[in-house]
Amino acid sequence: MRVAVMTAPGEVRVEDRAEPVIAEPTDAIVRLSATCICGSDLWPYRGIEALRKPRPMGHEYAGIVEEVGSAVTTVRPGQFVVGSFFASDNTCEICRAGYQTHCVNRQPAAPDGAQAERVRITLADGTLVPLPEVPPDDLVPSFLAASDVLGTGWFGAVAAEAGPGKTVAVVGDGAVGLLGVLAARELGAERIIAMSRHADRQKLADEFGATDIVTERGDEGVARIKDLTGGLGAHSVIEAVGTQESMLQAIRSTRAGGHVGFVGVAHEVTLPGMELFFSGVHLHGGPAPVRRFLPDLLDRIVSGRIDPGRVFDLELPLDEAAEGYRAMDERRAIKVLLRP
Ligand SMILES: [Zn+2]
Repeated sequence: MRVAVMTAPGEVRVEDRAEPVIAEPTDAIVRLSATCICGSDLWPYRGIEALRKPRPMGHEYAGIVEEVGSAVTTVRPGQFVVGSFFASDNTCEICRAGYQTHCVNRQPAAPDGAQAERVRITLADGTLVPLPEVPPDDLVPSFLAASDVLGTGWFGAVAAEAGPGKTVAVVGDGAVGLLGVLAARELGAERIIAMSRHADRQKLADEFGATDIVTERGDEGVARIKDLTGGLGAHSVIEAVGTQESMLQAIRSTRAGGHVGFVGVAHEVTLPGMELFFSGVHLHGGPAPVRRFLPDLLDRIVSGRIDPGRVFDLELPLDEAAEGYRAMDERRAIKVLLRP
């Protein structure tokens, strides 16, 4: 079958590899209805994250179960499923507390890559959420978004304690930041300030529920947030980039007593202790426990309440994955959907 493999920074090839097989009794094999490229795939693509050997890519997936291992009881062949990028048993104490990405049995859900025709999913019972019926094709992008970027933006909003009466600022206008806007709206935030300099992303932020757009970034961006909030800063700030600048922008945009939900994968971020000490903000984040939110998110998609699939603004055949990476790297596309 065809699999997208990163062979070196800036280099992605779609190769023929062996069909996945059940390796553990807890595995499932899923035929992908669609897959996609993640902003986090750009870290190794840009050489910021080490790539020691060719890596089959992809960790976002939605599709039809073809086969399950002998120990799997909650999903069966023929069902349409969505799961998170980390597999979890969903039974340990950490999972039951809603932190499945920190499960004591955590492992990559798609160790052989998910930018492929088929994928082997580990710990299928704890990881996959089946839909009652196979959805129409036009909903597939939204279910695929739920696998990572929607769940991650949602966690950012929850960690930032977005809710009624709150002013929420969102740092980052990638798919996760934009879906953080959508999550903040769904959670009832009063005012949602999207920080973006790109017209197409501002437009989507508007559609997802942003009430204000701030185009400045860094210290100027912080000053604008302060201007818009009576000099105090936002109650809730979602950090969806993962750089030193974005993290400090998020912390400095938050009022004392407020909350930062940081979900951008942090690279080389160092926080100044004295500034943190005097900021009086709550920090919470990390890899999103998408599995916690999936049943609710899938319901909202099925009912037509949310349409997170709109973050996919470029669709390509899997065989053209390399062009998809280029388009995201050059910011020509927000997020690329790949059709196997
Ligand atoms: Zn667990």
